[in-house]
Amino acid sequence: MSKSRFLALEKLSSRKPVCAGDCPRGSAIFGEAVFSIEKTRQYLPAGAFKRLENALIEGTPIDRPLADQVAAAMKAWAVERGVTHYTHWFHPLNGATAEKHDAFIDLLPDGHVIETFDGRLLVQQEPDASSFPNGGIRNTFEARGYTAWDPASPAFINNRTLCIPTVFVAYTGEALDYKTPLLKALSALDKAATDVCHYFDKDVSRVIATLGWEQEYFLVDEALYNARPDLKLCGRTLTGHAPAKGQQLEDQYFGAIPSRVTAFMEELEHECHRLGIPVKTRHNEVAPNQFECAPVFEEVNLAVDHNQLLMSTMKKVARRHDFRVLLHEKPYKGINGSGKHNNWSMMTDTGVNLLSPGKKPKTNLQFLVFLVSTIKAVHEHSDLIKASIVSRGNEERLGGDEAPPVIMSVFLGEYLTNLLDELERKVSDKKMSADEKTELKLNVGKIPEIMLDNTDRNRTSPFAFTGNRFEFRAVGSSANCGAPMIVLNTAVADQLARFKRDADALINKGVKKDEAIFKVLRRYITESKPVRFEKNGYSSEWKEEAATRGLSAEANCVPALRAYLSDKSRKLLVGNGVLTERELEARFEIKNEIYLKKLQIESRVLGDVALNHVIPTAITYQNRLLQNVAGLKAVMPDHEELSAVQIETIRAISHHVREIQTRVASMTEARKQANNAFADPVERADAYTKEVRPFLESIRYHVDKLELLVDDEIWPLPKYRELLFSR
Ligand code: ADP
Ligand code: MG
Repeated sequence: MSKSRFLALEKLSSRKPVCAGDCPRGSAIFGEAVFSIEKTRQYLPAGAFKRLENALIEGTPIDRPLADQVAAAMKAWAVERGVTHYTHWFHPLNGATAEKHDAFIDLLPDGHVIETFDGRLLVQQEPDASSFPNGGIRNTFEARGYTAWDPASPAFINNRTLCIPTVFVAYTGEALDYKTPLLKALSALDKAATDVCHYFDKDVSRVIATLGWEQEYFLVDEALYNARPDLKLCGRTLTGHAPAKGQQLEDQYFGAIPSRVTAFMEELEHECHRLGIPVKTRHNEVAPNQFECAPVFEEVNLAVDHNQLLMSTMKKVARRHDFRVLLHEKPYKGINGSGKHNNWSMMTDTGVNLLSPGKKPKTNLQFLVFLVSTIKAVHEHSDLIKASIVSRGNEERLGGDEAPPVIMSVFLGEYLTNLLDELERKVSDKKMSADEKTELKLNVGKIPEIMLDNTDRNRTSPFAFTGNRFEFRAVGSSANCGAPMIVLNTAVADQLARFKRDADALINKGVKKDEAIFKVLRRYITESKPVRFEKNGYSSEWKEEAATRGLSAEANCVPALRAYLSDKSRKLLVGNGVLTERELEARFEIKNEIYLKKLQIESRVLGDVALNHVIPTAITYQNRLLQNVAGLKAVMPDHEELSAVQIETIRAISHHVREIQTRVASMTEARKQANNAFADPVERADAYTKEVRPFLESIRYHVDKLELLVDDEIWPLPKYRELLFSR
């Protein structure tokens, strides 16, 4: 057996679960490493705390003297816990989290060292972060980028470092991160939703959007991972024949969790709870060695931060257990990919979930307004919503079996479908009679509470209503939830504001409030009907039907991204003050660039693996066969039939080797041509999709054939059965 594979397998056989020891109960340690509101109260003078609280509630700026006080409190708390450094913690557009640590110390001119950390350092920093993606916003000669404190997301301690969540902007003020536009989108939603709530309840003064993500991931043994250059460099396998047993027995989902994995999960949960991430659910996923973890939902900004923190914590904890975590959307061909369902809803400061039907006709009408407005928003901006979740990884996942299709549609379940159909039929353009209105209200009032359990779960829908929230399932497992949350919350905010304008216009003409609401709802129900789909989203008929409904089935990342720049998207994002034109264009460019680079890396890695690992191994084996044939001929010259099978195999190996060699050469040539022909990253990404990407499949085909022909003993790369079934 090849040495690397042998060593990997040998190491694997001696693995034992690394128990994290006695983990204290979640409730005892929850938030221990977070500078929560409670701790802020303990460490700040009462007056300062009151002022901070007001600023947080009102969203008003925090002045310098107050910031100094908060900084002092934070530092006191952190230093008591052995913290030596602090960092601004932010989400640049490469999808990762970034931090640059500074010690709490400063050198005085006389050589004395003092501990410093004040409001200035808390509020703003200037990391030399010139090499984060910026889409041309920041030239390197003006490389200054600023991070600025986000007081809405609490600081926390990680690795003896105080981490302060911040936004990241260019010196011009333009956003270079996800958080800045996300906060703007959430504030637009707050305003629009609160205005609409006032039709029903004057006491509402704030609406927050809520998010509960479900993080899917794979674990793979570290030694096996290290023996696979493709996993190491691309996060996914580029070769590998399907194993004899995959997921067809469906014996993995919700099955008993293996003990090594349980030990990992326990430690992960412990770390998460310390960091205030309320993870709650864990289970096996459908594919072998695939798992999921999900928290209790939180306010969107916090939930996004927590998901970013979860992903980095997962990577760290996995290594302590000799695992690597794969967050790629499609690590293994022919095996389920990983997503990150975004469960999303809106909640008032009076505690009402706006996507949960209530007990009274009034609250139910309110529920319908928010439900229908969301559907309408998804219909209006389905292309942009798709653009917010496409990526090189998700391109491999979406549209495959068991993953949501690339066509954006909304699933409601039978009960709500019938109810919306009824509204559409019964609300008329004419002035409605009292009886008609009463009947409608009665029916609306009857929406059963049990609907939550009742909703038939259509797993094939990318955007499904699940009783008291929408579940956006197309989001990729490695994504920053910020991207889809920016778009979704802005689209719904825009739609709610429109709803208010439309209803007010009727009310100003003398139409009664409820009737006006019904009339606008009916129009929206009719207009957004094409996006509603209740049947099997995996079927080929849906593709055809979706085309007649004007829904895009674009499966490629680069063309799908163009939706960011459509007039409609510009109007939405720029019009609502969430992104400027330049920020929008920069984001589009960055997404294309990242796509291009990932594809380029995959192509290079596959070329290396094919030429340096696969072909030499195949030739070694072929030589053995040739020796064998020569030996047989020498000993038994009259029995040619004895070497017939070997000769066939020798031929087959030559055939595949030749195919691989010429295709790798053509692929390299295609890369060169695309690089030379297009300086513009978008055009280049497009050329890579068309000219380079197809080689990944065709080269892999021949490599996988060789995997079956060549002696298992000498095959250099751990095989699917080893990657997927070892734990
Ligand atoms: P399933 O796998 O059945 O979809 P899970 O329990 O794994 O359900 O995940 C459901 C997720 O939805 C959890 O993170 C949960 O907190 C979240 N969720 C529940 N209610 C809401 C809500 N009102 N807003 C946002 N997320 C919610
Ligand atoms: Mg779910």
